Amino acid sequence: MTARICVLGSSSRGNATAVSFDDSGKFVLIDAGLTPRRVRAALVAAGAAAHCHTLRAIFLTHLDRDHWSLSWVRQLQRSPVPVIVRRAHAELALSMGVPAACLRPMESAFSLGSTAEVRLIAVPHDDVGSTAFRFDCENAHIGHATDLGAVSDELLDGFAGLDILSIESNYDEEMQRNSPRPYFLKQRIMGGRGHLSNTQAVDAVRALTATGSVRHLILLHLSQECNCPILARRLFCEQLPAIAPILVISRPTEPTPVLRARRSESVNDQVLA
Ligand SMILES: [Zn+2]
Repeated sequence: MTARICVLGSSSRGNATAVSFDDSGKFVLIDAGLTPRRVRAALVAAGAAAHCHTLRAIFLTHLDRDHWSLSWVRQLQRSPVPVIVRRAHAELALSMGVPAACLRPMESAFSLGSTAEVRLIAVPHDDVGSTAFRFDCENAHIGHATDLGAVSDELLDGFAGLDILSIESNYDEEMQRNSPRPYFLKQRIMGGRGHLSNTQAVDAVRALTATGSVRHLILLHLSQECNCPILARRLFCEQLPAIAPILVISRPTEPTPVLRARRSESVNDQVLA
């Protein structure tokens, strides 16, 4: 039994991550900001189609357009699967077209059949917040947090002891300040209810990797205007040299390698053929 994760695409143009908890071919999506067609194409491009052929559920961090594409409405009407949101997002989800028959509002924690325990952690983002997810299955502990303006103690507690940590590293502060974006937008992003900067993400990763349990670190949702993968990688590797071999930076339109969490394998054995 091997848990696998593949970020299919991550940017303000669309976010979706595939996670499978075992070898059954069933998988869940965290966010559906890419169209069903793009999700399928990315799974094929990543070499993950054999392990992710049957969608089991969709977990939505929140309902912004880059996390929920309306193209899923018809797909879900044809082939319904549960769509999990935090209770605070349920009304908005219905108004954004999530079919009522699919919607599963949840609070704090629940079991995904016998496959995984799921924990939902509210994180600050605009008015209604976003949701970080922790999945605990037989052989892996996986955390996913994106679109958050700050890292709370609750999130640090909830993400303790992960094998796979995926977290937003949205912007470089200097690039953000010097960008031609309007002042109100910079305030929205940097004001504690927007996105995590690279340095905020470094601080969170420092705390979350201190015990040495994390085998894969994935940076999510890098701004295309106000960040640069080379810059982010350099900062992380300077600040946290030990994480250099496990660092993967997600891209807007290409999937990451498929990362797997079987603990008996070496760190280098991470890409599925
Ligand atoms: Zn977003």
